[in-house]
Amino acid sequence: QGKRFGRGKASYFSDALGHAARERMRMLTDLRAAFSAERLSLAFQPQIDLASGRPVGAEALLRWETDEGQWIPPDQFIPLAEQSGLIVPLGEWVLRTACQQLRRLTELGHAGFRMAINVSHAQFREPGFVPMLERVLADCQVAAAQVELELTESIAMEQIDAITAKLAEIRRLGVAIAIDDFGTGYSSLSVLRQLKVDRLKIDRAFVHELEPSNPESGIAQLIVALGHQCNLIMIAEGVETEAQRRCLLTMGCQEAQGYLFARPMPIRQLEDWMAEAIASG
Ligand code: C2E
Ligand code: MG
Ligand code: MG
Ligand code: MG
Repeated sequence: QGKRFGRGKASYFSDALGHAARERMRMLTDLRAAFSAERLSLAFQPQIDLASGRPVGAEALLRWETDEGQWIPPDQFIPLAEQSGLIVPLGEWVLRTACQQLRRLTELGHAGFRMAINVSHAQFREPGFVPMLERVLADCQVAAAQVELELTESIAMEQIDAITAKLAEIRRLGVAIAIDDFGTGYSSLSVLRQLKVDRLKIDRAFVHELEPSNPESGIAQLIVALGHQCNLIMIAEGVETEAQRRCLLTMGCQEAQGYLFARPMPIRQLEDWMAEAIASG
């Protein structure tokens, strides 16, 4: 019977899945292979204290270069990793690798440097997430206070009590929490208070609207005011121009990240960049 239906079923599925779905499945297979073959890497983008102009940390960003030398953007492959569950081992690898680099930077003399690491909801929801985090911190011998996890605000939309408890547990370890892409989701102000986080990352959409003459610049200003009210540190992402930097500094945003300061770069390059940034004051 299996034989009789087998072929018909296969062609039925391959037609029904459509081209796009087959492409996604192929990409997932390639992603798994790349992960096993250690073909994934991290790039690091400096985070700057706006008042002093000094680097205070870096964000770790996942990079995938295929065997054919093509760079696949994380916005394409992270959703696949999330849907398939691959994000759990992959996310652990990101955390561990970023913490190893943080350890190295500390040894090079960059004491107190902070490493920001993106965490997917699918990864955060895993029951083993906090023990895994503790294990990685211990293995890499980095101070919890130097590690920050970036979560997007849609996390607040699901099981708010469970999320709040888990965030509290993580902050008790001393690890900081940032809300990524802030302003693009739906979290209410009361949710923001309940969540107890350390930092808000102003989404780059609001930063790009920031021109002194542009009335839309009000949104970033509102987020900064909200952050001050809640005693949070604000960091602006996607800062590309001097005018944006000045605007943010004037409105009281403490930190920034973006092409104006530096692009995401491999770890060796970050080490050189840091040495130079410190030397040149
Ligand atoms: P994100 O966490 O909001 O990261 C910031 C993105 O903005 C990065 O894109 C970065 O390269 C880009 N960017 C930085 N400065 C500028 C700028 O001045 N202008 C512009 N136009 N863009 C800038 P990237 O590296 O392509 O990452 C995209 C997203 O993929 C990230 O957004 C994050 O949500 C996700 N992602 C990256 N790595 C990881 C990871 O290890 N784990 C998880 N779960 N997600 C990750
Ligand atoms: Mg991020
Ligand atoms: Mg972001
Ligand atoms: Mg973003």
